[in-house]
Amino acid sequence: MSRIMIAGAGHAGLGLATHLVRSDADLHVDLYTIHTTEELLRAPRLTQMSFPTVYELEQNAHLDFWSGLSPVFRDISFAVSPGDGTRQSFVGQQRRVGTAIDHGAKTAAWLQQVERQDTNPGGAFIHVQTVQAQTLAWFAKSGMYDLVIVATGDSDTQLGSLFSQVSVSPTTRVIVQAHFEGAPSGPDVQVTTTPHGEIFAYPVLAAHWEPAQPGQEAPAPELVPATAVQVYARAGGPMDPTTEGVTFSRRAENLSAGWAHAHRTLAEHTPELAAWAAQAPCLEQSRLLRPITPRVRRPLTQLNGTPVLGIGDVVLTVDPTSGQGANASTRVAHVVAEHILARLEQGKPLADAAFLEGAYQDYWDQHGQHTSVFNNLVTDFWSGKLPPYMTERFAHNFTDQDQADRMVVGWDDPSTLDWLLTP
Ligand SMILES: Cc1cc2nc3c(=O)[nH]c(=O)nc-3n(C[C@H](O)[C@H](O)[C@H](O)COP(=O)(O)OP(=O)(O)OC[C@H]3O[C@@H](n4cnc5c(N)ncnc54)[C@H](O)[C@@H]3O)c2cc1C
Repeated sequence: MSRIMIAGAGHAGLGLATHLVRSDADLHVDLYTIHTTEELLRAPRLTQMSFPTVYELEQNAHLDFWSGLSPVFRDISFAVSPGDGTRQSFVGQQRRVGTAIDHGAKTAAWLQQVERQDTNPGGAFIHVQTVQAQTLAWFAKSGMYDLVIVATGDSDTQLGSLFSQVSVSPTTRVIVQAHFEGAPSGPDVQVTTTPHGEIFAYPVLAAHWEPAQPGQEAPAPELVPATAVQVYARAGGPMDPTTEGVTFSRRAENLSAGWAHAHRTLAEHTPELAAWAAQAPCLEQSRLLRPITPRVRRPLTQLNGTPVLGIGDVVLTVDPTSGQGANASTRVAHVVAEHILARLEQGKPLADAAFLEGAYQDYWDQHGQHTSVFNNLVTDFWSGKLPPYMTERFAHNFTDQDQADRMVVGWDDPSTLDWLLTP
């Protein structure tokens, strides 16, 4: 039996583990996670949209437990607000629907699903344990595992630094999020770009629970249809609340100050959304403030002479405004799982540098490179660095409905955006 260790249980780690244990290959997965299911359910996390293609991948992997409950989206509006009082926008339609589920609820359910898969002879075991760099190196060399994979996201700098850095974006984002009951009027997803950051509003199935009464356990979270409102500020700019002394602390008064700042941004650039958010009940536990710095690392490292593969945000953290991170993590998990299963069928060793690099390269060729080019388009939109042909073609979105639809479909699948991105 082949033994595979995966450190990290987010979209990438859970996606990979699910694919592996759903196969009938003779394998066992040890999945390491910092958080228990209960902690995941109650830990406020940043929400992501699953675009239609990735939503379909999740459904095919039997990971959509919320069909019929989760609000779906198809129409996306995109507005450009330079901050001088003018505003231009277009609305496009995706070919299929996407959705968004509270991140904690989603990963908690996926974690349970990995453990209870019984199609595979070896199955999976969940270890609630933080993996340290030294432990990882020891596991890699110990002979206990045929393959070690790191999927610990962008926040574990210790494991992240095991992979050499290729580039880091000069633009850190400071993100303010809150979920509100109900939905504003207008298109399903509303995106506004400004020179200092972006504003997103989209439907989400959000987790909500009443605070625990003294001496009693907190009631179980309920899932309710809501709207995620997120401000993605360029760090140091006027949309960044930390420039006014707000910190990343989870204390209620700090989160309130962060949201009050975000509300002023909404009032300036999206007054209708600001008016709606001012009267809609806010789901307190959803409020968050977080920085994120996009970066690229090499996907392969050698620990004690053993090749170890990184997948997901630990090696490719994209700008969250491109909306591609969780989608990219799901896709890389899917492609790498296919390679691992094919390799096992061939009876060849998994911890082979050329094989692992080839598997990641395949993901890169199919999806990663397109995600990356799209990410640059989003990041450079206001920089004046975009080539003139691109800005001219983009401008047609405002007058050409067919193109506006293609633009929105390209958000789901950036590999279809050749018409915009290629000279
Ligand atoms: C505000 C915001 C909005 C976003 N919106 C979108 C969107 O709309 N669409 C989209 O596709 N993407 C979006 N993204 C990006 C997306 O969230 C990430 O790209 C995605 O979650 C990365 O998945 P991952 O599995 O690589 O990492 P994560 O989801 O971060 O998971 C890593 C896991 O590893 C665990 N872990 C960390 N260190 C250790 C350790 N040492 N030992 C054991 N376990 C460990 C963590 O607890 C975590 O569970 C957004 C990101 C942000 C910040």
